[in-house]
Amino acid sequence: MLYDYHVIVIGGGSAGLVTAGGAAALGAKVALIEENLMGGDCLNTGCVPSKSLLASAHLADRIRHSNSLGLEASLNPVSLKKVMTRVHNVIASIAPHDSVERFQSMGVEVIQEKGTLLDAHTVQAGNRTLSARHIVIASGSEPQVPKLEGLDEISYLTNENVFSLETLPEHLMIWGAGPIAMEIGQAFVQLGSRVSVILRGSQLFKKDEPEVSTLMKGWLAGDGIQFYYQHNITSVAREENKIRLNLENLKDHNPETVTGDAFLIALGRQPVSAGIGLEAAGVNIDNRGFVLVNEKLQTSQPNIYACGDIAGPYQFTHMAGYQAGTVVQNLFFPLKKKVNYRHVVWTTYTSPQVAHAGHTEASAKEAGLLGTVITQPFQDIDRAIIDEDRGGLLKLVLDQRKRVIGATLVCEQAGEMMPLASLAIVNKMKLSGFSKLIFAYPSKSEVFQAAALSQLKESFKPWQKKLFKKMFL
Ligand SMILES: Cc1cc2nc3c(=O)[nH]c(=O)nc-3n(C[C@H](O)[C@H](O)[C@H](O)COP(=O)(O)OP(=O)(O)OC[C@H]3O[C@@H](n4cnc5c(N)ncnc54)[C@H](O)[C@@H]3O)c2cc1C
Repeated sequence: MLYDYHVIVIGGGSAGLVTAGGAAALGAKVALIEENLMGGDCLNTGCVPSKSLLASAHLADRIRHSNSLGLEASLNPVSLKKVMTRVHNVIASIAPHDSVERFQSMGVEVIQEKGTLLDAHTVQAGNRTLSARHIVIASGSEPQVPKLEGLDEISYLTNENVFSLETLPEHLMIWGAGPIAMEIGQAFVQLGSRVSVILRGSQLFKKDEPEVSTLMKGWLAGDGIQFYYQHNITSVAREENKIRLNLENLKDHNPETVTGDAFLIALGRQPVSAGIGLEAAGVNIDNRGFVLVNEKLQTSQPNIYACGDIAGPYQFTHMAGYQAGTVVQNLFFPLKKKVNYRHVVWTTYTSPQVAHAGHTEASAKEAGLLGTVITQPFQDIDRAIIDEDRGGLLKLVLDQRKRVIGATLVCEQAGEMMPLASLAIVNKMKLSGFSKLIFAYPSKSEVFQAAALSQLKESFKPWQKKLFKKMFL
């Protein structure tokens, strides 16, 4: 059968763009269907605006605390309008990279319509019906907004509109305590808002090592964020020009209220799988709406693949890119590649940053791989003292053969340092490998060497120490 295209990609976010660009580079005839802005969440309402906002917020914080470095700088009241103008300028600077023009120049036909699957090979896009040998679903995710009494009566924020604010809220209330909530919460508190975070549980950074929660609770509370741990929101109401949240304290079931002038819902992401014809095409989803894929990222229809947030399990731009690379290979080459999440990485860009690679202690234990755990505090690292960095830690998870299989790092620029751990994990390197490197002094990366040396010291048996003393001292 003759098809219009080799590949149709639905969604022009991180996953769809990498898939379409990669397939076109191999010479395939590709159609990319995007109903909204090219670049998806990451460019327009996710990574890029949030990190741009944090850049201003972290600097504001440094200025306020300049006396710790012997300076006496002071900060005028922040104009959120100016900060957000810069945020949107950053988006505009990066946008050409994801633009229709760039992808057309790469040989991709970009169709700016909503795409709906009609069957396993056919997609409706506006008034056009297109067919392809392969289809890739990269429709992404959207903010999860639960049913809540009174929500229809107020205007609330999600990541889709928070970057359009022009006036700094006097009191921003945030529902949820995941990475998005923590980054935006810290950004606003550092810019000068009062910030309250309401969460059902009592742990922050739940996907990271438990030590991270303890550390970050202290830093974020120190910044001024007020946490309502173990609280639920039962209803919301408008109160003059404010928003009132009615809470239930889950410990004693007593009612409480918090009033503020802005309310951000950051309770996680849900896949965009409704209304795109998955059923008509025979593509199965799980009970939360994620498209089910095998290790080769094929859906229940082997010619249809899915990647990025719609497929999970990790909702990050770099994981979308990694999966898309795997899909491109599997679309054309007979030898199919399987995804391997052994060295998954992520970073939350708060101050200090929280970066992770590979296993946590708990996941290594569950996988039966856990050997030793090394925890190296940051306060002894000279560079951290020199820079007045917020304290942190390095936690390394080793297997039974002392190979590095996981790392968590809490410090400024942790995300930039994490590839060192990734390299160790990918190459199945032993912890002692770090002691063979020469680290320029003073650098924060020395924490890896310190961890290796402290383990080396620990590993000497008493008789070895005695023998050494006798022979050489
Ligand atoms: C506030 C925030 C901060 C974040 N920060 C980071 C970060 O620092 N680092 C990181 O790695 N990740 C971050 N993420 C996550 C990251 O943005 C996502 O993992 C990434 O965007 C997923 O890419 P995707 O292509 O799967 O989906 P998306 O970016 O959601 O793209 C999907 C695209 O498909 C389109 N679409 C959907 N249905 C159809 C249809 N039927 N027809 C046509 N088009 C359709 C949508 O319009 C959208 O453009 C952040 C997310 C948020 C919300």
